[in-house]
Amino acid sequence: MNPKLEVREVSYSYHSPEGETPALSHISFTVPAGEFLAIVGPSGCGKSTLLSLLCGLLKPEEGSVLMDGILVGEKHDGIGYMLQKDHLFEWRTISKNAALGLEIQKKLDRGSHHHLSEMLHSYGLGGFEAAHPSELSGGMRQRAALIRTLALKPDLLLLDEPFSALDYQTRLSVCDDISSIIRSTGKTAVLITHDLSEAISVADRIIILSHRPGRIKAILPIDFPQECASPLKRRNAPEFSVYFNQVWELLQGGGSSASL
Ligand code: ADP
Repeated sequence: MNPKLEVREVSYSYHSPEGETPALSHISFTVPAGEFLAIVGPSGCGKSTLLSLLCGLLKPEEGSVLMDGILVGEKHDGIGYMLQKDHLFEWRTISKNAALGLEIQKKLDRGSHHHLSEMLHSYGLGGFEAAHPSELSGGMRQRAALIRTLALKPDLLLLDEPFSALDYQTRLSVCDDISSIIRSTGKTAVLITHDLSEAISVADRIIILSHRPGRIKAILPIDFPQECASPLKRRNAPEFSVYFNQVWELLQGGGSSASL
């Protein structure tokens, strides 16, 4: 079966009057449909650049990015985002915020409205449809933002440090919450984060990038027992610290570019 996403030998540099800044070098990996992939690396190693390349906001200088076998620059739909900030509009109700993407794409009809109401109920926002964002907790706001994204039925979800604006305690429960929603939808997801624990707690595989220009140091499969399905349960499992030490060592300089 073809992968959902395929990154082939991608390199990218920024150019300015001051000179060239190589951001990524010879990145190659694939993401099968339904996988939750996390990408970690030190600050400035090119994680955001990689995410912009995956969604076609930037074009690779070398190499290519394909989704379902088609170059991402040529295929604009099917990619949803979750960002650090929820970007909910205060003057719109939760229901209207969640419907925003559908409204912009002129896809808001009786069927999509019904689907949206079902999601608001299933994901714990039933009864808050008429509320405004300021009346909701940080976690509920992130859920509303995710529903806004999922309403467009994306094939691929790109998550750019979606929990980093939350305080630590909220972050743990929101991460649990959001990842179980994403798992339940069976979507393919790519998360970039500088938080190793977060990556280990949600991902099926982790890509570890080197310092700039980012290169793949290792691709680490993450495997927890069935009963440790949620991020909070993973954090309490004995395997967690083993993975943490492994990723930490790779980030500190150990390992090669081989898959583990
Ligand atoms: P990360 O998300 O891992 O922190 P980025 O992808 O934001 O890293 O940036 C990778 C490197 O490219 C950094 O060294 C950064 O300074 C540089 N960079 C990012 N954006 C620009 C830009 N618009 N112009 C020049 N250099 C940039």
